[in-house]
Amino acid sequence: MKPLLAFIALAATLAGAAPRPNILYIMSDDHAAQAISAYGSPINQTPNLDRIAREGMRFDRVFCVNSICTPSRATILTGKYSHMNGVPVFNRFDGSQPTVAKYLQAADYHTGMIGKWHLGSDPTGFDYWTVLPGQGVYHDPSFLEPTGRRVIQGYATDIITDLALDFLKNRPKDKPFFLMCHHKAPHRSWEPDAKHKAMFAGKQIPEPTTLWDDYATRTDAIRECRQKVFYDLTRYDLKLEPPTNLKGPERNKWLSVKPTEVEIEVNGQKKTLTGNELKKWKYQRYLQDYLACVQSIDDNVGRLLDYLDQAGLRENTIVIYTSDQGFFLGEHGLYDKRFMYEESIHMPFLIRWPGVTKPGTVQPAMAINPDFAPTFMDIAGLAVPADMQGRSLVPLLKGERPADWRTSWYYRYYHDPGNHNTRAHYGVRTETHKLIYFWKQDQWELYDLVADPYELHNIYDDIAAADTVAKLKTEMYRLKKELRDDDQFANKQPTDNVDSQPVKYKKAP
Ligand code: CA
Repeated sequence: MKPLLAFIALAATLAGAAPRPNILYIMSDDHAAQAISAYGSPINQTPNLDRIAREGMRFDRVFCVNSICTPSRATILTGKYSHMNGVPVFNRFDGSQPTVAKYLQAADYHTGMIGKWHLGSDPTGFDYWTVLPGQGVYHDPSFLEPTGRRVIQGYATDIITDLALDFLKNRPKDKPFFLMCHHKAPHRSWEPDAKHKAMFAGKQIPEPTTLWDDYATRTDAIRECRQKVFYDLTRYDLKLEPPTNLKGPERNKWLSVKPTEVEIEVNGQKKTLTGNELKKWKYQRYLQDYLACVQSIDDNVGRLLDYLDQAGLRENTIVIYTSDQGFFLGEHGLYDKRFMYEESIHMPFLIRWPGVTKPGTVQPAMAINPDFAPTFMDIAGLAVPADMQGRSLVPLLKGERPADWRTSWYYRYYHDPGNHNTRAHYGVRTETHKLIYFWKQDQWELYDLVADPYELHNIYDDIAAADTVAKLKTEMYRLKKELRDDDQFANKQPTDNVDSQPVKYKKAP
């Protein structure tokens, strides 16, 4: 411990102050709030996640400012937008920059990073790390560590939890801890373990209101994108079995086809699905596997909560559950994320802070993922660095809402065309409206989120909306300037894809 920090710690002890709280940050990948029963999901039950909400606070409006995996992770670590941390697309994170993990480590927190990292460079600022290479895999995953690579037999969600439990058991007991426990699930290709797969096999999942959206009034972007449940899921996504005689590249080619007819077996009879029947079937297959992956996360969060109870850590540990962004579960006929529509940008955010946050409370204030790092700083009693662009959520957690809390925020997505032919865009969201600008096409969308919560009516060209358009444009460009977005990465192409690149690591001696 540095002398100054040692002095502060001693002074705090002498003053009888409570020890600094531990932070257990659990984040999954692509977990939509619509698939958590604490958020009113009609499609599944997540009792362990609900327990965090019941014993703490459920944030209803936490948003991701660039809704894809790698950029969101970089933003969470730095408290900065993509154009300031250098990660607008799937490009490599420069680990030499300041991060909240480094600040906490310097303040004598014991820091750990376990699971999906997806930032293309070695983790920095962590006393312990073991991460999946790139996207990682669901079954028998490899992990990269400072000393090398190891394969662990089993299912990723269980293993990541096992590793997190080991971290908690083996941590130095004289320091608070900061643990980032990051699940791979429920990311595509939605591969559940056998137990949870069986739970959802054949289960009929209710269709969302906008599954059959016809995109009337919308701009070209949503029509052009290739993230549609009805058209873009492959045989691999749908878990169709290839003919046994196909091997290697031929087998892979078969699996990569987006089927327009599928043969299934019903009561021992073969049946060919086409048209709307096939569309409905694809939605069911997608959701059954997705929800089965979520169920495993829920079980494993329960294991962590139980351990905190058993180890006497409950009272002084803040537990957070979130996801790196939201996800479309068939809304607007889509899967994946990227768009500035609500299901994509909405991050679930459940937090339990015994003695500080009133149990069972719901927080309507708008928060964004650049707020996470400032919040961790504040929790640890550290000043928030001036270059972090978010704001501490601690006042909200204490049940206070600062008078100057944000009433608007800025979004920018760059990955164009990316994996799904998604158009780059930026925009502003307020408490009541959302303005989206697809800058390469010079096309706009405006939604009244109060009158049209499902975002089905683009009213940008309505005469009656002219004043609202003008005000929102002014606000959007004000935020863009304030955040120092000078279009630094406007033409960044997603060529430097970290998905396929292993994290660099030192070879074991
Ligand atoms: Ca993600």
